[in-house]
Amino acid sequence: MLKSVAAVLFLIPVAVARPQAAVATRPASSLTAAADDSVVPKLVREGSDVSRVDADLQYLLDVIGPRLTGSAEMRRANEWTQQKFREYGMDSAALETWSFGIGWTRGPMTLRMLEPQRRELLGVSWAWSPGTNGPLAGSVVLMDARSLDEYQRRFAGHLAGAWVMLGPAQYVVNAADPPRTRADSDRVDSLVRANAPRTPDERRFSDIRYSLLVREHIAGIIHDGGKQYGLFTMAGSPAGVSPVPQIVIGNDVYAQFQRLLRRGETVRIEADIKNSFTRDTLKAYNTVGEIRGSERPNEVVILGAHLDSWDLATGGTDNGAGAIAVLEAARILKASGVRPKRTIRFVLFSGEEQGLFGSQEYVFAHERELDKIQALLVLDNGTGRITGMATQGHDELRDLWGSMLAPIASSLGPLAVRSGIKTGTDHLAFIPYGVPGFNYDQLSRGYDFTHHSQVDDYDHTVPRDVAQAATVMAVNAWQLAQLPELLPRWPKK
Ligand SMILES: [Zn+2]
Repeated sequence: MLKSVAAVLFLIPVAVARPQAAVATRPASSLTAAADDSVVPKLVREGSDVSRVDADLQYLLDVIGPRLTGSAEMRRANEWTQQKFREYGMDSAALETWSFGIGWTRGPMTLRMLEPQRRELLGVSWAWSPGTNGPLAGSVVLMDARSLDEYQRRFAGHLAGAWVMLGPAQYVVNAADPPRTRADSDRVDSLVRANAPRTPDERRFSDIRYSLLVREHIAGIIHDGGKQYGLFTMAGSPAGVSPVPQIVIGNDVYAQFQRLLRRGETVRIEADIKNSFTRDTLKAYNTVGEIRGSERPNEVVILGAHLDSWDLATGGTDNGAGAIAVLEAARILKASGVRPKRTIRFVLFSGEEQGLFGSQEYVFAHERELDKIQALLVLDNGTGRITGMATQGHDELRDLWGSMLAPIASSLGPLAVRSGIKTGTDHLAFIPYGVPGFNYDQLSRGYDFTHHSQVDDYDHTVPRDVAQAATVMAVNAWQLAQLPELLPRWPKK
């Protein structure tokens, strides 16, 4: 999902002694990984020479396909990865159940412009939003009010049956650095206005605007795909089932609507959407594989990635790549015949796209063992190779990460450790419980375009990068499993 907030970069392999942060109970130097660990090159060979990544990635994406949490395809992916963990020799491979909520299935959809021109349009339904009960036509309105007062002056009472755009079009450049047009400047101006800091009054308004619109009996809401070349960005969750239809259209079409409305043209569209909900609460599953520790089996290193995806394509870069990297890391460790001191666990979460549900549920279910989790390492920034690690605000662990990445910098690098806090994925569910949680940095490989879009499929993945990521994760899990001590707990929230 999201990229890191702030970064200062330090190139590897020089491990330099730095002043200790307050958190650690032991001096950082005692937490470095063994520099001459003979197991590391073995893991690197296994991950580089006999990788199963491409075959498994193709099967997950091309055969199983989109893995929306709660769907039959997601359940099939859970069962398939469980079977793969068994095939790869895990000491245990289980499906851990949790209560998900109301299921949602995308149905067929047509969308067309009726005025000022007749044209079939490409659009998709927002997830967990209802269908239209047949063709639903209406005028398009750009509701860009920032306060309740402005809303009541300009829009209240005039929105019945309207398809509502919730703000100006995002500004995305479709061709390499084109000169700005008048229209472009208008868009930038309206965006600057839309993104200006909000007063408390304005914040209150943006919290209630959905319910105000619903009370106006609008036809539905139109979202901006916000990406180049008409790519969509999917979202939606059972935590907020939409009372009205919501659709996503390409940024270019959204911007056309905005320009037409600005010049006083009437814009009318018609959508016909057939989505369905399940009535009852569904069960969902996290797939969990494990290599039991030989000396400290109750202390656990976790490699994690979410297996669920959006359903516009087959969830390649988000997050089939991460899930297969974790599966492959398990295979590499087992195939290398090594016995880690601590247990190494591989968790494929579901429900991440709806709000980190699966990882939250994992934490609740394993609350009693959280203090024994050495660390959680998550991969969820696309298909690109690992480029290093952010310390997640714990710079006292910079040398540890430096010592863990240095032995593989020549074979799998370059790799860098940096100060930085990563957001937007499953490590966030663990950190409030004091568990050291990290999310790897990766090469972008167009992730900003592909994730949550209709082109997030096998063709946009880079299997050899995923193989590199799997190998780095296997090595880091091994190193953390072999450390003399448990990492100091992070402050609980
Ligand atoms: Zn993701």
